[in-house]
Amino acid sequence: MSAVYLTPGVRWAQRRNLIFLSIDVTDADDVIADMKPTSLNFECNTKQSNKKYQVKLEFMKEIDPEKSRYAVRPRYIQMILSKQKEGPYWERLLASKGKVPWLKVDFEKWKDDESEEAQPAKVEKISNNSVKNVTATPVRQNEGQTEDITEKKCTDNEMKAELFKIVEILGRGKGIVATQDIKRGTIVYVETPLFTTRFNNGLYSIMDINTKISGLTKDQYAQFMDLYDPEPTSEPLLKNIRLLNANSIGEDGGCSVCAVLSRLNHSCLPNSLWLRKDNQYHLSAIRDIVSGEEILINYIPAFLTKSEREAQLLDEKSFQCDCSICSLDAAASAANDVMRMRVRDDHRTIEEFFTEVNRHSNVKYIRKHLARIVQLTFACIDIAENKLKEQAGLFVSEYNMYYKLHCFSSLGKTLKIKLPNIKSPEYYLDRQREVCSYFGQSFNELNKPCSFSVK
Ligand SMILES: [Zn+2]
Repeated sequence: MSAVYLTPGVRWAQRRNLIFLSIDVTDADDVIADMKPTSLNFECNTKQSNKKYQVKLEFMKEIDPEKSRYAVRPRYIQMILSKQKEGPYWERLLASKGKVPWLKVDFEKWKDDESEEAQPAKVEKISNNSVKNVTATPVRQNEGQTEDITEKKCTDNEMKAELFKIVEILGRGKGIVATQDIKRGTIVYVETPLFTTRFNNGLYSIMDINTKISGLTKDQYAQFMDLYDPEPTSEPLLKNIRLLNANSIGEDGGCSVCAVLSRLNHSCLPNSLWLRKDNQYHLSAIRDIVSGEEILINYIPAFLTKSEREAQLLDEKSFQCDCSICSLDAAASAANDVMRMRVRDDHRTIEEFFTEVNRHSNVKYIRKHLARIVQLTFACIDIAENKLKEQAGLFVSEYNMYYKLHCFSSLGKTLKIKLPNIKSPEYYLDRQREVCSYFGQSFNELNKPCSFSVK
């Protein structure tokens, strides 16, 4: 007897280089996704109800099966198909014309096809007349595309409301958009989180979260419930957890949820950075932000290759990044990956040396390695400043690098080791001070004098 197959609902959206498909099957198991350039054969079972689902799609144009991927989620199968040729939007998904009942546009992910020239008009729309220099606003493609504003009333008196607005961002829920030009180093916003939960062995406690949520005031609770819910129609009992997962700001040993800062969207080339100071989060502009531009942070470490970033974002945040770095062509993207890996590897070597010296202060070891380590540090700073500039992670890292050069310079002086091209320890303290100002951190807070003592 042949199996009876059900047809699942399929939602789709596209970008110039991608097709997003969501196949709505809860608890899918034994998934088969046979991707060919012009077709997709999908089959699965379900764990609980033992139903069988099948759908076959013949595409209007070609996809690249090699670059296409999928992930099985609790309530759907998420696919990201790479178009064979990047270009204008496909007129429809399927080769055949006419409607099929199981296929719908995924409006949550949908974003209109826009050429780069078309974008300033959009920006003008959200920036309104009170904003200067609107026509000069260089919004990067794929980032910060905004639609009609829904202004959010923020009761938090710490809010520098004049600097930004919370608006609907096409395909991304709500986001934060600058309403005036913001200089690098500006503290854009300071916020006390709605609540913070601590991890226990890397896991959070649902009981603790529920206790924290039930302790919120009515206003705070309304702010929490208004945050982005990736699956608003799913199980209401799990809503707290979904909201926490989708909106938490990570930190060592715990996470927080903020009414405003949890709205920040991601870019691998962010223009802002948050730092926790005591019980508050400080959002700083790490480069100049122009009026109308979306304020973006990096959800993940800076020194990841494109495929590592894709995997981490898909796994942890269920989306694919289309920022300007992730949209580089293949050659530029590969070159970018090489630089990131280089900084990451060299930084590790420098850290190891640093730790070793801190721990043992072994003069023989220092004499043997210091000059080479200084050269590696120079090379990392060169990549950070000249090739990958404006990366939040790099600024922090640069800060570390300058701190290290400060220490290495002191060490070289003390031990009379010849270090070509190295400047005085004071010079690197100045550079450190400058980099601190980029991310709104006061120099005095972070400044530590050279910690090495030579035995
Ligand atoms: Zn990206």
